[in-house]
This record gives sequence, C-alpha cells and structure tokens, in this order.
Amino acid sequence: MARYRDAVCRLCRREGSKLFLKGNRCYKPSCPIEKRGTYPPGQHGKDVKRGKLTGYGEQLREKQKVKRIYGMLEGQFRNYFERASRQRGIVGENLLVLLERRLDNVVYRIGFATSRAQARQLVNHGHIRVNGKKIDIPSFQVRIGDVISVKEGSAKNPHILQSFETAVGRGRPGWLEVEGKNVLSCRVVSFPRREDITQSISEQMIVELYSK
Ligand code: SF4
Repeated sequence: MARYRDAVCRLCRREGSKLFLKGNRCYKPSCPIEKRGTYPPGQHGKDVKRGKLTGYGEQLREKQKVKRIYGMLEGQFRNYFERASRQRGIVGENLLVLLERRLDNVVYRIGFATSRAQARQLVNHGHIRVNGKKIDIPSFQVRIGDVISVKEGSAKNPHILQSFETAVGRGRPGWLEVEGKNVLSCRVVSFPRREDITQSISEQMIVELYSK
C-alpha cells in the first residue's frame, strides 16, 4: 500500500500542531514543535507568515491534518468518507470511528507501538493476532468482542514491551480493555465514541469540504 515516506515532523510543522507521528520523540522536549515552535517547514519557514485562512483553506487544512494523523493518502481517505456517508448517524463522527477501528490504529491505541506508523509495520510483519488468527492488513476493521494480541514469538520483543508500559501515560481509551494477566492482549469492549478521540479535530469541516 502506498504511503508517505518523507520526514514526518515537517507534516506537523505544515499543520502548525503536533500530530504525534514519531513515537516517543513526540513526548520529549526534542520534538521540533516544542523546540522551535510551529513555523512552516523548509529553509525559509521561519520567515514565512501564515496568512489568515479562508473557509475553504481551513477545511482543507483540517482534512489534511486528519489524513496525516491516520497515515492515509487522499484516495483511501476519500473512501472512508464515502463509507461514513452511507452509514446512519453523523457523517463526521462515523468517519472518525471508522478510522479509529483500523487495526493499525487499535494496535497503537493499545500501546503495542508508539506511533501508528510503527503499529502498521507490526501488523504488516505479522506480529498481530485478532482472536488468535494472524491478520496482516492494517485497514482491518475491529469489531466489539475482538481480542487483539501480539503473537507468542513476539511477546518478549523489547520495543513492544516498552511501548506497552509507557502507553498508560499516553492514555489507553476506555473502549479497549487489557485482558486479565495476559498483558499483551486487549479486548474491544465497545466502539470508540467521539469523546474518546482527544486530539483536536473538527470533523465537520471535512464533511463541508467533501460536500462542496
Ligand atoms: Fe510531530 Fe512528533 Fe515530530 Fe513533534 S516529534 S514534530 S509531534 S512527529
């Protein structure tokens, strides 16, 4: 699957906010946004004055931001929107719930990985099990009752263990519950709700953009 392969911190600087794309570094003072502020990327970024955005500009930036948070390209993101539009309920919220239910996002939210990119790699490389069965499709949609775990042979992987331990500090959402003593296993106890997504997102702007 195609994906963005350039430096990710420039995406945060382009959007003027932290998108948490780089794992642990995002929580450290070495994060470029913490160190140097939110000026745009590029050699002359410091000298660039961000103009006031129009309604369309704001909507476009919001869509780009969410796309980048979840590591999507335009076509894939648009497909999620179309799917959200066909569902009952509020389209913007449907869109966010569909994105949250992606297996790579769930692996990140549980804390098996420190970023969605790392989580996608774990899924792609076959480290993740859903109800005991290998699933290596990052876009797989989890359902209520699914148990997401790390395969037996990877359960001692130091990166996964360390990430899992620090995930509590990052906040594991209430719709994912650690399964008993087997800490490298989590159950989906409900679908994510809008309030579970704490990152600042105005999904209505995306709906307005795509509805033009
Ligand atoms: Fe964004 Fe993380 Fe890079 Fe900071 S360290 S700019 S939050 S990707």
